[in-house]
Amino acid sequence: MGGIAVYPGSFDPLTNGHLDIIKRALPLFEKVIIAVATNSRKASLFSSEERIGLMKEVFHGWEKIEIDTFEGLTVDYCRTRGSKVILRGLRAVTDFDYEYAISLMNKKLAPEIETYFLMADHANSFISSSIVKEVARHGKAVLDQVPDVVNLALLRKYQDS
Ligand code: ADP
Repeated sequence: MGGIAVYPGSFDPLTNGHLDIIKRALPLFEKVIIAVATNSRKASLFSSEERIGLMKEVFHGWEKIEIDTFEGLTVDYCRTRGSKVILRGLRAVTDFDYEYAISLMNKKLAPEIETYFLMADHANSFISSSIVKEVARHGKAVLDQVPDVVNLALLRKYQDS
């Protein structure tokens, strides 16, 4: 397929679900830019610097990956980066309505940009950043759901608070 794909999201924090989507997208594109949205209205647990720091550890040495932040609309960011592909992951049925609505709006705003969806792997289908945070907040390990560095960062975050 080639070209540059932009994978936008909050990644608060990165989970094994995100990781799986990224791994599977890599052979399909020349480059995948993981784009952390910094102006989301969602209150975040990790600052954008912390989220990027964690991802830099996880993706250290992965040549086709770039990690960046953006403010504003995803389609505007794609245009500035010369990308015609927005990459998103779809879990079970819960993501569909939201993702469909956003992809239609993005198509309206930027007809030249396509949204590509990869279906969540069965094993990761119920992993979400918000559930992971909720479990970690109560002191339980989420080792099988996030990369090790993210698990440690979650433990530290909730110990400090
Ligand atoms: P947003 O705040 O934009 O929804 P997220 O960081 O929650 O961003 O997710 C980014 C993208 O990754 C979204 O397309 C989301 O559906 C997808 N995603 C999240 N969790 C998983 C998972 N467990 N498996 C596959 N895709 C996922």
